[in-house]
Formats: sequence, structure tokens, C-alpha cells
Amino acid sequence: MVDLHSHTDASDGSDTPFELVDHALRAGVKALAITDHDTLAGYAAAKPYAEEEGLDLLCGIELSTKYLGQTVHLLGYFPGEEPSTEFQDWLVELQDKRRDRNRRLVGNLQRVGVDITLGEVESLGRTMAGRPHFASILVKKKYVKTMQEAFDKYLAESGRAYTERDEVPLDEGIARMRRAGGIPVIAHPVRLGRRTAEEEAEWIEAAVGMGMLGLEVRHSDHDATAVGRYARLAARLGLLTTGGSDYHGAYKPDIRLGTGKNGNVSVPMEWVARLRESCG
Ligand code: AMP
Ligand code: ZN
Ligand code: FE
Ligand code: FE
Repeated sequence: MVDLHSHTDASDGSDTPFELVDHALRAGVKALAITDHDTLAGYAAAKPYAEEEGLDLLCGIELSTKYLGQTVHLLGYFPGEEPSTEFQDWLVELQDKRRDRNRRLVGNLQRVGVDITLGEVESLGRTMAGRPHFASILVKKKYVKTMQEAFDKYLAESGRAYTERDEVPLDEGIARMRRAGGIPVIAHPVRLGRRTAEEEAEWIEAAVGMGMLGLEVRHSDHDATAVGRYARLAARLGLLTTGGSDYHGAYKPDIRLGTGKNGNVSVPMEWVARLRESCG
């Protein structure tokens, strides 16, 4: 079993890096990529333990980028060498911007009457606290009943306390990954929300024009039709294919490591080999 998309508590997953490695071993996952949002800290913490235990652990990341006014998740894989220090320094800048957004988001929530402090948020998510952590606090304090309601009422673009984050342009994200020796991959393309398959294909071709190298064909949000469509598109455009569950532990309890939602994710070992071959 293979899973190339997972999150630890270094970003917005609930498992510690060690728990995630244990979990993978128990579930029969042989190759795992940790793709935390904006940080490599979870991967770095898990790596020595994974090596000890014989789990093939790949270095990955997921960045939120902006293209044509839309937020686009960009996965990056570094199966060869670890990313350059230039890239890692740049991640620190992104983390600072996130912390600044979080500070402003706390202010905006307080202004609409929510009792919340930055300390509370960071006790859940530390330096990488994200909106899912805000959402779980809003649920815990009974401002809303569900995480989704927290987004709809407060945190999403249409929410009362929405706070913009300075997101990287998609082409810059791609270029920086390539320069750092990484493989940029479009995450869960189904969430791009294109109306037709033609529009979707055009969008993905534009990303290829920017240097995109891969497409996440399998994902917990992809049904069989979507998987077929993305597999054909990747073949036509010469893109690498990847896949994973997007496991977040207890924060997304219906998603299982290695197998996704109701077993809808299965990633061939061959895809890992190709990812490796294309590097360096
Ligand atoms: P952040 O990186 O802190 O801005 O948080 C982004 C994360 O919040 C995403 O990865 C999603 O998991 C979640 N998210 C963003 N928008 C929504 C939404 N409208 N509904 C539910 N979850 C969302
Ligand atoms: Zn996440
Ligand atoms: Fe994502
Ligand atoms: Fe993810």
C-alpha cells in the first residue's frame, strides 16, 4: 500500500509524526509521503524513526497558492535530496505570513463577538495553526455545531471574520519547487471546481505551461469517473501521476491512511518509482 498525501500535527493533522509512522506500519503502508501545509517539520521528525522501522518515507509539502483569484493547493515532492536551504528559508517566510494572518483573524473574530485568543489557537496548531484549528475552537465553545458551519459562518471567504492570507502565485510556487529539486503536482484537481472537463483540461494545460510536472490522480475526493479522467489527462500531457488519502487523523475521521474514503484510494507502487526516477 502507498499513500503520497498525509498530514501530521506539524500542520493540521492530529497524529504526531511518530504516531503517523506507527499508523502507516500497522495499516500496511510501505511508502508514505508526509505533505504538511507550509512545513517540513513533521517529515524531519518522522524520518529517522521511519528509517529505523523500515518505512519508505518521502519528503513532501502542500502549499496554498493563488491563480486567477482562486486558491490552488500545490503538492511538492522531494524524493531525492531534501529541498535547498533557499526553499526552506522561503518556507519560514510563508510561516511568518501565516502567523500574521492568524493574529489578524483572531482580531476579526473578537470584533464579531467571539471569545478567542492567539494563545488558544497556537496551543492546538503551534506555529502552523490554520483555519481548521480555529474551526475546532469555535465548535468547542459552541459558537457553531460543526467545523463546516465554522467555515461557512466565520472563516470562509463569505464568512464574517474572513481574513485574507498573502498567498504565493501558483507560477512562483512551481518555480521555487523546481529550483529546489522538487516535483510540483496539482493537488486534488477535482476541487478546482471547473464546470466542464474541457475547462478543467485547459486549466491543467496552463499549469503545465508554468512547469507543473504531476497530477494527483487518486484522492479521497475523487470518484472512479474523476480518476479515469485524470489518468487520461496525465497520460496525454505527459504528467507524472500521484495519489493519496489526504489523511488528517481525527480532524477528518472518515478518511483512512492508505485507503481514503470507503476504500476509494489505491496508489500503485510503480508511481513512487516513477516519481523517484524523474528526480535529479
Ligand atoms: P489555512 O491554510 O489556515 O487558510 O486553512 C486552509 C484549510 O482550511 C484547508 O486546507 C481546508 O482544510 C480548510 N478549508 C478552507 N476553506 C474551507 C471551507 N470553505 N470549508 C471547509 N474547510 C475549508
Ligand atoms: Zn490540511
Ligand atoms: Fe489540500
Ligand atoms: Fe492535504
